[in-house]
Amino acid sequence: PIVCKLYVGQRVVVAFNIACGFCEYCQRQEYAVCDTIYSSKLQEKLHQQKKVTLFGHSCLKSAGLGGQAEYIRVPFADINCLPIPNDVPDDKALYLSDIIPTAFHGCHIGNVKEGSIVAIWSLGPIGLLQARWCQILGAKRIIGIDYVPKRLKIAHQSLQIETINVKECDTMKTLLEMVPGGADCSLQAVDFNYSKSLLYKDERSLQSTADVDILTEIIACTRKCGTISIIGDYNNVINHIPIRLIMEKNLRIIGGQSHTQKYWPTCLHKVLSGEIDPTFIITHSFNINHLSNYYEQLIDEETLKCFIQVQN
Ligand SMILES: [Zn+2]
Repeated sequence: PIVCKLYVGQRVVVAFNIACGFCEYCQRQEYAVCDTIYSSKLQEKLHQQKKVTLFGHSCLKSAGLGGQAEYIRVPFADINCLPIPNDVPDDKALYLSDIIPTAFHGCHIGNVKEGSIVAIWSLGPIGLLQARWCQILGAKRIIGIDYVPKRLKIAHQSLQIETINVKECDTMKTLLEMVPGGADCSLQAVDFNYSKSLLYKDERSLQSTADVDILTEIIACTRKCGTISIIGDYNNVINHIPIRLIMEKNLRIIGGQSHTQKYWPTCLHKVLSGEIDPTFIITHSFNINHLSNYYEQLIDEETLKCFIQVQN
């Protein structure tokens, strides 16, 4: 049989990005760039290369239909399904599909380790989970940057990390006062739709560039020989990147999607031990039959994660 490791009725979590398990990339555990599962001719035409494959994404990336569907066909199920022990409840297991391993990935490629000083741009679900991973990895200081009151409150109450509210101060000046010389590791978890300056609001309205303001700020706030990890989505080119500063400061910039299947053993172990408990980012929890009652709230920026139970 094609599926050997799973049985009918088994409780599993499915990876948001699909891999085959046997191509040269998967053999190196570089699952996010699997060369086999792939259906976007547009992506190949634009970049002359096969790249990311995700469930339910745009035509640039998607090979799998329906990341939100009631039923889903999972190619190469042995590699893309993680069996979940019975004693792990749904609201702790579900986020192993994406944000728990993605947050770990951002810290891993961002070189977070014992004693690191880390700054995290954006305290959405992934930014908050990155802060938790940084604590587990032994970071000395963690500074979260955001402007949404609810996110800042959760960062304080649930994680006790330092924060900067970008609406109350100059982020760059404040961070460099807090950490003279800059952070060892700067983790970018900002959505690409976020612009600070008028110049980029204009350019983005013309679809000519994605935002560089945050990236410029991150480059300025990272110490010499530090690392910048980018896991926020970018769907475009970026103009005006301060390349000279990157060279002169010997910065290392790295990005990319999570190698989810590679990180699953580590992530599941931390969920089982209780060190990672994603329920602190759930702001809404309800049955799918009541979805219409909550819809307006779900698009509010105060909403972090909603847990939708599909069983009656
Ligand atoms: Zn592969």
